[in-house]
Amino acid sequence: MASLNLKHIYKVYQGGVKAVNDFTMDIADKEFIVFVGPSGCGKSTTLRMIAGLEEITAGELKIGDTVVNNYEPKDRNIAMVFQSYALYPHMTVYNNIAYSLKIAKYDKKEIDKRVRYAAEILNISKYLDRKPRELSGGQRQRVALGRAIVREPKVFLLDEPLSNLDAKLRASMRSEIIKLHQRLQTTFIYVTHDQVEAMTMGTRIVVMKDGFVQQIDTPRNLFNYPTNKFVAGFIGTPQMNFYNAKMSLDGNDAIVDLGFGHIKLPQNVIAKVDKGYLQEEKSVCLGIRPENMSMTNDDNSIEARVEVVEALGSETIVYANMDYKSENPSKAAAVTLKVNGDELIKIGDIIKVAFNVNKVHLFDNDTENTIIQRVPTNITVKANIEAGKISLLGKTIDLPAAILENVKDGLCSVQIPTSAISLGEGQFEGAIDNVELIEPSKLYQIKCENDYVFVRTEADVELSGNVAFDIDLAKITIIGDEYKVNPLVVEFSANATVVKVENNLYALKVNDAQFNLPTAMAQNLFTTKGKALLKTELLVKSSGLDLVQADNGLEVKVVKVVDYGNKKYSIVSYANQEFAISLELEVGQVVKLAYDINKISIIDIAQDIILI
Ligand code: ADP
Repeated sequence: MASLNLKHIYKVYQGGVKAVNDFTMDIADKEFIVFVGPSGCGKSTTLRMIAGLEEITAGELKIGDTVVNNYEPKDRNIAMVFQSYALYPHMTVYNNIAYSLKIAKYDKKEIDKRVRYAAEILNISKYLDRKPRELSGGQRQRVALGRAIVREPKVFLLDEPLSNLDAKLRASMRSEIIKLHQRLQTTFIYVTHDQVEAMTMGTRIVVMKDGFVQQIDTPRNLFNYPTNKFVAGFIGTPQMNFYNAKMSLDGNDAIVDLGFGHIKLPQNVIAKVDKGYLQEEKSVCLGIRPENMSMTNDDNSIEARVEVVEALGSETIVYANMDYKSENPSKAAAVTLKVNGDELIKIGDIIKVAFNVNKVHLFDNDTENTIIQRVPTNITVKANIEAGKISLLGKTIDLPAAILENVKDGLCSVQIPTSAISLGEGQFEGAIDNVELIEPSKLYQIKCENDYVFVRTEADVELSGNVAFDIDLAKITIIGDEYKVNPLVVEFSANATVVKVENNLYALKVNDAQFNLPTAMAQNLFTTKGKALLKTELLVKSSGLDLVQADNGLEVKVVKVVDYGNKKYSIVSYANQEFAISLELEVGQVVKLAYDINKISIIDIAQDIILI
């Protein structure tokens, strides 16, 4: 059993083909990871680098805690199963499975135990005396898996192992491999070009294109929240419909002009859209999956003529065109719908095609990246300040002294980071309008008067009635007429070096202060930088809120104390920076502060690389 870490891995083949670019991923123990993408996207190369069959051009590969870049394949404790199962034709199934153990001179009893265990797991015990030619394709592939199982590897690597099998067998072997993963409780990495295989097998999927990772996510997140147009089109059958569109605001909603019709995106949907796209009338790409369209007549329906009908039994795929009134219907107006198999539809029918606006995807036409934020980082709302109080989101609350001294009465806009909102007790309330499962947590959309706020939490929240929430006022930005109140500054950075304290003990030296590094952290740094670490100029970044008072530490002076109502902060100065700390101190006081070493980040200044 093992975890894997791939850090900035590159592969450049002789002749200059860049097959893999900057592949970075942490794979936890027991995960089932699938690499998927069109032929030539670099999936096999990545797998082969993990196996040790291909040299890594740049980057670091760890299996467990060990950097294995220079380890031989046999020393990596992995087993690989290929598309061509390449069994020895003259050997029995038993001997095929036992072969690698015999070569490694395992004890006969141990070999027998392992072979029988593998055969039982794979349901091929009956065939141990047969030769490969007496087996079906599926059974042969099981024997190939058996050869991998007996080696008891930490990691299983499978390169398109099912692509030689017919469709039916492939489907049944797919579930066999899922069961095998469950029984063996080992890390699996599986390569396929088949998105259905990827979606059904992977706990997480890596979608690749032209040597670049496009998205690493759970199957559900890939389907619902594709990060770009490529992933959106690659995952899901039939393919997502794409249209060129222009958006403009209409009150709180947005009108989307598709050229051959309009649809309206309600405020709750555009609350997650990058606002620049709504005002500039910049052209965008609208995507919608066939399963998110229906043949109903509502405000968001566009007429279309049916061109092809594929009745598949439980469902019917309808291919239609929304530009049917013109002599030459534009291909850009073609639409695919997946509807219930009971619907009666014939070629030539004029149908109403309704877009489920909550399931619409929007992409930038140049970058092809999504313009709908999965979890909005901020929302901006209108507010009014009067007599020491601010009215926003349907409530009027006292402004704390820290903000009050910097604002003027009148209208303003307030930017609230999603991270500043917490559910539970609080001065605000609203009704939950929508819940989305964005693995591993849920995103609640709360309507307060005319605005929406978002909260991401793993907790289950009662959906009916109003929910209370609070906003951390230290994190908001207020923009008014001729003034701006910025959030409390908490981040700061300091130059540092690593020094040796004694054998195997290293410390981070920041000016006169020194902070011992935990062994694992020091090892991590040495793995990346080698001996040069002790000569490397580093930058340490931390949040002031993580600092604690200590005898030995960064010496800071309190320049101000700010009052946010339920919490006061001290603003301290250090190395020409001012930032807030959680401690309540007196102005002018000088104190020493220590890092929470597990919360800092360390940057190699010359190379501009985040080391930790
Ligand atoms: P995939 O497994 O996704 O089909 P590969 O990893 O096999 O893709 O290949 C990625 C790219 O690297 C392709 O452009 C391929 O032509 C190239 N490539 C693969 N193997 C070699 C090689 N030994 N020498 C040169 N180029 C190679």
